[in-house]
Order: sequence, then structure tokens, then C-alpha cells
Amino acid sequence: MLKLYNTLTRKKQEFKAIGKEVGIYSCGPTVYWYQHIGNLRTYIFSDILKRVLLFDGFKVKQVMNVTDVGHLTSDADEGEDKMEKAAAKEGKKASDIANYYWEIFKEDFKKLNILEPDIWSKATEHIKEQIELIKKLEAKGYTYKTADGIYFDTSKFKDYGKLAKLKKEGLQAGKRISMGDKKNITDFALWKFSTEIGKRQQEWNSPWGIGFPGWHIECSAMSMKYLGETFDIHTGGEDHVPIHHTNEIAQSEAATGKKFVNYWLHGAFLTFKGEKVSKSKGGLYIVSELEELGYKALDYRYLCLGSHYRTQMDFSLENLKNAQNAYQRLKNIIQELKDDNKINERYLKDFEKAIDDDLNMPEALQVLWKMLRDGKASGKIKTIEKMDEVLGLDLLKKVEEKIPEEIKKLVEEREKARKAKDWKKSDELRERIKALGFEVADAAEGARVRKIQ
Ligand code: AMP
Ligand code: ZN
Repeated sequence: MLKLYNTLTRKKQEFKAIGKEVGIYSCGPTVYWYQHIGNLRTYIFSDILKRVLLFDGFKVKQVMNVTDVGHLTSDADEGEDKMEKAAAKEGKKASDIANYYWEIFKEDFKKLNILEPDIWSKATEHIKEQIELIKKLEAKGYTYKTADGIYFDTSKFKDYGKLAKLKKEGLQAGKRISMGDKKNITDFALWKFSTEIGKRQQEWNSPWGIGFPGWHIECSAMSMKYLGETFDIHTGGEDHVPIHHTNEIAQSEAATGKKFVNYWLHGAFLTFKGEKVSKSKGGLYIVSELEELGYKALDYRYLCLGSHYRTQMDFSLENLKNAQNAYQRLKNIIQELKDDNKINERYLKDFEKAIDDDLNMPEALQVLWKMLRDGKASGKIKTIEKMDEVLGLDLLKKVEEKIPEEIKKLVEEREKARKAKDWKKSDELRERIKALGFEVADAAEGARVRKIQ
């Protein structure tokens, strides 16, 4: 039985799907810059969720949005549009910038073994749906007009703070928000007017004038289009609870009169020296920077699996180095195993228990290590193959080590000596190879070389 922690109820609940296919909507990237490893932690978490559901026999339909318009530089509907700002700075078309960063994001997914969503949905390709939804809200009396746009009146929606469990007055407390001519501090823009027609690259006609959608509306419009008015699971980072997801619930439920989402799952932040990091603050690495430092994306995935998704994880290169070492050790041990074509039911059950307990990946990794250390356990290879459906760590993929040419030559020479039964020379060469940091093992198919750990 799969249990998931639902932010809406603040409880671990048994997961019950609405229909045959589990609908998941995962808030995706804003594509005006690279996604840093903090963002990627959140996508590793939603990937694990998807993989656990598949492992448990569910069918899954996952939708992820690509925010390529309308995400302002502050959550409070102020500031510039992030895409427009980046386009102006780089002197490029907003759509080119969006596509460029989206492609890199997809490459990161591949490197991190994150399964691609079944549907990618771009905000700019769903303007019609967003306008339709705003029209619905307008017809039901939830909207009003100010000098700069059409706003959602949160005082008209009874349960506005239910996800964040905050009293209305407490929402966004501590932030300095200019009210403009908003009626309530929590009201948010559904549609923003272009201040000067023709100045923005991205603007559209609408019943309210030329402009562009607010950020929150895209997620409601696109999730309901692809998954229905009520669907199973919505994911995102924990920062989305008080504003973005709170607003999504308000506008969706106000429009349909139905419950929007059954399970809300949030990933805790990756922190950096104890501080929250975001793109606007800079400071956190992107995948290619880790690669330049000699790490692989999967080292980072292994690191992430070592912390529960609801616990904040403090990032340091030292932690990453430890994860890399542990992951390499794990792969080396697995490489030496012999397949006996069996499954170890006991360890697989313990593994399932861990992943079904609100995706407890640290525990799941413990089970794997315990099985590997258990000299009496059989069926290791086939069990690892099953476990890796969820872990996504390429555990059975051979470690491809770069062997320097010099070593390769010595190994060849040694092979020749062995063939000629010149054991003395063969032993000498083994020692020379060892002195250079490599070891040779004589397997049936020929010599195997690897770096000494
Ligand atoms: P953004 O592109 O800024 O909208 O963020 C994309 C996703 O990453 C969202 O689900 C955010 O909640 C999440 N996110 C942003 N910063 C972090 C962080 N430091 N750690 C984990 N997740 C984050
Ligand atoms: Zn969203």
C-alpha cells in the first residue's frame, strides 16, 4: 500500500487513484536561465514519485509546464517579466531564449535519468485556454479590473488559505507588497495589460485588451486541459505552497466548483550554506559546472536519494564527493556479482516497504546496501535490476573507466607474456601497472583493468 504525505491534509495518506491512469501535474521550469541543482532536486523527487507509481503497477500520465511567459520577477505580480527581461539583456527573441534553456533542461533530465513527462506544455501555446478560464472566472464574478490588469478577488473564495494553512492575514506576511489598486493583499493577476503596445515581444489580444497572462493561470488551464477538472497529484517545490499553488487552487476551484487536486506533494529545498538558494540569488551550481568539477549528474542523483524529499538538504561539494565515492563503490561491488537468475524476495519486499512509505529513498538505499553486504543473500542481480527501476542509477551498466594509453600498453605486453608463459615478466608488469594506480584481474574473456580505489 502506497502512502504519500499530502500537504493539503498534513498527513501521510493511503494513495487512491481516481481512475485507471494516475494524473500528475508537475510545475516545471521558467526557461529564461539554466535550472540549478536546487530546481533539479525537485524534479528528481517527482521522478521518483512517478517511478514508484509505475513500480506499484499504476499507469501514469504526467504533465509538465514550461513557463515561457508571464513569470514576473516577484511573486506579487510586480516587476518585469523574466522572459522579456532576459530577451532584452541577451538581445534575442524571447522564444529563442525559451527554447535554448528548455533544450538544456531536457539534456539535464537525460543525464539525471529523470523520465520525461508524457506531455510538455508551453504557456505560450495555451493562451487560448488561459483566456477561456479567466472568462469563466469573470462570468462567475471572481474578477475585477485595475489599471494594470484583471485580478482574482481572493475574498470571494471561501477557503483561500487552506493549502498553506495560514490565516488570510498571515499569507505573505513579512513581505513588502505594494497593494497598487488591488482590493486584498492576496489578490493576484490573471491578465496583465501591456503598458505600451508593441514594446513587449510577447503580447496577445484578449477580451480585456492587449497583454499577457499572469503566471499562476497557466498551470490551472493546462493541468485541467490534459488531466481533467479534478486529478490525482500535483507536485512542486515547497516555496509554491503559500502563493502559486494556493492561487492555482483558488482559481481552478472557483471556476469549476469542484475539488482541483487530491494529493499535493512538495519537495523541500536544497540549501547552500544553510541559505535558500534561487536563480535570482545566483550561487547554486548547474549540471555542467558540476561536470567541469569532475562529477557526473548521477553522482548528484545518488546524493539526492540519500535525503528524504521532505527534508531540506544542505549542499556542499564535500557531500557530493562522499556521494560520488559511495556510488562508485556501489557500482564496483555490483560489477563483481554473478547472476543466478533469481529474485531475493525478502530484500525486494523491504525495498518496496521503504518506497511505499512516502518515498523513503534513504531507507531504500539502506536495504540495497544491506543486501549487498549479506554474504548469504542470493538473487542479487535480478533484485538490483528491479530496484533500479525506481532508483534510476544505472546500477547494472558497466563502469566505463578511462584507462590511460600507457596502462593499456602495459596490459597488452603482460597478456603477451602470459601467452608465452613468461610468468616472471607477467608478474613484473602487474607490479608496474599497480605502481601506476591500476589493477589487472585475469578473467576468462581476457584481462580486466581498473583503477585502484
Ligand atoms: P522555477 O524555474 O524558479 O519556477 O523553479 C522550478 C522548480 O524548482 C519549482 O518547483 C521550484 O519550487 C523549485 N525550486 C526552486 N528553487 C529550489 C531549491 N533551492 N531547491 C529545491 N527546489 C527548488
Ligand atoms: Zn505551476
